[in-house]
Amino acid sequence: MFRKSRLAVLITCMLVISLLAGCTQQAPTSDKTPADDKKNTQSIEKTADVVVIGGGLAGLSAAISAVDNGANVILLEKMSFTGGASMLSGGAMLAAESHIQKEHGMDQTKDELEAYWYEQQAKTPAPEGYPNKEFVRMIIDEAPETIKFAEDNGVKFVKPSSFYPETRDRLHDNEQKSGAGLTGPLTESAKEKGAEVLLNTEATKLIEKDGAIVGVIAKDKDGNEIIINAKSVILANGGFSRNAEMMDSVEPTSAKHISVSGVGNVGDGYRMAEEVGADFHEEDWIIGLRSQAVEGKSALNGLSWTTGLYVNLEGERFSNENAPYSVLYNNTTLAEIVDYFLIFDSSMSQMLEPELEGNKEILFKGENIEELAKATKMDAEELKATVERYNELAKKGVDEDFGKQPELMVPLGEGPMYALKVRATQMGTMGGVKTTKNMEVLNANGDIIPGLFAAGEMANRPFYGRVYVTGSSLQIAATTGRIAGVSATK
Ligand SMILES: Cc1cc2nc3c(=O)[nH]c(=O)nc-3n(C[C@H](O)[C@H](O)[C@H](O)COP(=O)(O)OP(=O)(O)OC[C@H]3O[C@@H](n4cnc5c(N)ncnc54)[C@H](O)[C@@H]3O)c2cc1C
Repeated sequence: MFRKSRLAVLITCMLVISLLAGCTQQAPTSDKTPADDKKNTQSIEKTADVVVIGGGLAGLSAAISAVDNGANVILLEKMSFTGGASMLSGGAMLAAESHIQKEHGMDQTKDELEAYWYEQQAKTPAPEGYPNKEFVRMIIDEAPETIKFAEDNGVKFVKPSSFYPETRDRLHDNEQKSGAGLTGPLTESAKEKGAEVLLNTEATKLIEKDGAIVGVIAKDKDGNEIIINAKSVILANGGFSRNAEMMDSVEPTSAKHISVSGVGNVGDGYRMAEEVGADFHEEDWIIGLRSQAVEGKSALNGLSWTTGLYVNLEGERFSNENAPYSVLYNNTTLAEIVDYFLIFDSSMSQMLEPELEGNKEILFKGENIEELAKATKMDAEELKATVERYNELAKKGVDEDFGKQPELMVPLGEGPMYALKVRATQMGTMGGVKTTKNMEVLNANGDIIPGLFAAGEMANRPFYGRVYVTGSSLQIAATTGRIAGVSATK
């Protein structure tokens, strides 16, 4: 539901706000004068062949591949540590025909992976033109090389596995079973190979000369301005999952959901790219996860992975509860649902009874459906009809309404009944600038902007319709980063 014009307006607003912020910062707010402030900060000039903005998986891969190709590289990361959302992730990378699979006698093919990719995309209707077949095939073809690249740079992969709805072992987990098992070794490797990693350093503006990008302006945590003159710049600053306004311009319902992405992912790259005339994809979307108990870190969060009956705040069922998590998320979003209830019967009493006292805002109990409806403020008639219909379909052994697997259609039984309120949760975005398959950024005329490249969530829109496939996003980040690193050194 993204409108390019809305994003353009929003980015312009961000630009104006940042300019205004710059103006107000110059106004003295204490005894100190602007001149005093200036005395304490300095402008530092540096030179590099390639500057990489962002130290997540895309940025680290880009930095390493640029160094491998002989470039002098500076990587800017605005947080005090590298990793971004990549570090917070499960660390699983999707690939077929990797050397690791071959070593384990696994015979998955790229063609099978491609078929699976499109099977998943078909589960949520997507805007015309997405995904782009050439980009999807590019990732699938390059994925084995990327797995080798990550391994050569210190990642310790274990035997690949699968995750529902996958039935083939295409997920490349690492020994740490986390994103840190990727970004940790890659950070070390980038530094060992000679990339200069500047932490607490936020890129603020691209330097343009005669239509080409020739550097970046950044600021460090002490307010010093760092001007880096470079032959190429790679935007690898992630998406905008943590920017409520940008999320709202793409999909207002999602803006109200929980984001578990890296806190640095506020769309800085969008603004910088817009300022130099980059073209953007028009139909951004969200990488969905399942849900979390509304009160944050509740122990009840784990129940979000159970697959019983889910109802909206009116008491209506809205999805196959066992749909792949990104599809369940899409169903929630498209139905404009922010919070919903997981319904349980007395079979869960042992776990839920002790939790009632400490979770009054999110966990509700009723001796029967009518009482539960009263406790949750759901429509009693609606909830009763929903439970009756669910039980009827469960007994029939066919979910005629949403297509859930028959073995998961377990009828709800005796009271007491419980309802856990959860909020839909997302972990990233699908969007960014338009690029060639070499990750060169394009302008509105479809021409390459010399010196500007993009990778990861900053350029991941063409790979998806609206369905995130488990393990795909890390693979896209690492592969597009690796490719951008090569392109930037040519
Ligand atoms: C909890 C969670 C679990 C996930 N699990 C998986 C999984 O198992 N498999 C999978 O494929 N995907 C998974 N994903 C999605 C995947 O992790 C991300 O889509 C992917 O890592 C994005 O990589 P990136 O390099 O583009 O962005 P990031 O890793 O977020 O890196 C962007 C970096 O840029 C920095 N930055 C931003 N602006 C600036 C600036 N102006 N100057 C300097 N630095 C800047 C940020 O601080 C950040 O460090 C998961 C995501 C989350 C949150």
